[in-house]
Amino acid sequence: DVIGGDVTLADLPLRDDLRGRSPYGAPQLDVAVRLNTNENPYPPSPELVADVTAAVQEIAGELHRYPDRDAVALREDLAAYLSGATGVNVSADNVWAANGSNEVLQQLLQVFGGPGRTALGFEPSYSMHPILASGTRTEWLPAPRRADFGLDAAQAARIVAERRPDVVFVTSPNNPTGQSIGLDELRTILDAAPGVVVVDEAYVEFSSRTSAVELIEQYPSKLVVSRTMSKAFAFAGGRLGYLAAAPAVVEALLLVRLPYHLSAQTQAAARAALGHARETLGSVQALSGERDRVVEALRDMGFSPVHSDANFVLFGHFDDAHRAWKRYLDSGVLIRDVGIPGHLRVTVGTPQENDVFLDACRTVTEELS
Ligand code: PMP
Repeated sequence: DVIGGDVTLADLPLRDDLRGRSPYGAPQLDVAVRLNTNENPYPPSPELVADVTAAVQEIAGELHRYPDRDAVALREDLAAYLSGATGVNVSADNVWAANGSNEVLQQLLQVFGGPGRTALGFEPSYSMHPILASGTRTEWLPAPRRADFGLDAAQAARIVAERRPDVVFVTSPNNPTGQSIGLDELRTILDAAPGVVVVDEAYVEFSSRTSAVELIEQYPSKLVVSRTMSKAFAFAGGRLGYLAAAPAVVEALLLVRLPYHLSAQTQAAARAALGHARETLGSVQALSGERDRVVEALRDMGFSPVHSDANFVLFGHFDDAHRAWKRYLDSGVLIRDVGIPGHLRVTVGTPQENDVFLDACRTVTEELS
């Protein structure tokens, strides 16, 4: 008997707009091969682990004090990384960081969305965008992608011009479908947008396309580029997301961020991990190669994988995707049912994990055909 266990959600004086909603819920199951949350499958190197440990040990003696509220040293390191990665001269004033890019996105909606305001996204896309909109009481406007899941920039611009959303989300590469968009297409959408355009680049390191960071100078009052250390950087457990934008956007976020939101441990560990960016990102090329191998093997088996510029692949066709998902789970492979009829999404793992997945694919096709 848990204290208070007889009270249910329905008994609580919940906000009406939250009634009947489901929380974000990628299953966290203890399965041998976990290819369901688009993490980097390679654990940190012993050198990185040693540096993170030493960095956290060093600040541990100061834990009686609050951390740097503005995470300046970390933002300087992130700016240096971004400058190197994009060739754009990004400074710490252009960068903001929070506990995962989810928190960055939430802060953006707290500032630019809210009651009486709207946010628009091109679906299917990252399921947290509408959930964060709902949490900040921003009305969500779903807009379509093409049937092949690509984004039709001209159509997107028309819809944006017509609906005039306060915030537009463009996920590139798009999760869960995998395509990215080019800067010219992005300009078309930016030119049509009356408000802020958030380009969610969580998977950009896997993409062959140019980062939207290049366009900030041209669209300083509109464009925000969101990024994360959770994917290519192999730092999902460290919880560090960041953005690049004009300094005024960062100033705006200071209005809503919680004081000392980034713990001293997080700041220290993220800086130590960033010090190993080059070696960590060395896995990106191997993962892209594995992605192409998985796509080809899926095609050979008669599946229809969607073109991906990220570290995951959406594939079909299944008559009953959820039933197929369970079959994969029975074979010891956890992948993702993202709710797109006929399709499942698999994260690219190590070559061994991908082999187990592809073996499971053979079993599943036999059983379901
Ligand atoms: N954006 C996209 C498109 C994602 O897929 C994810 C993670 N699944 C995130 C943002 C958030 O990741 P995090 O909070 O770990 O940075």
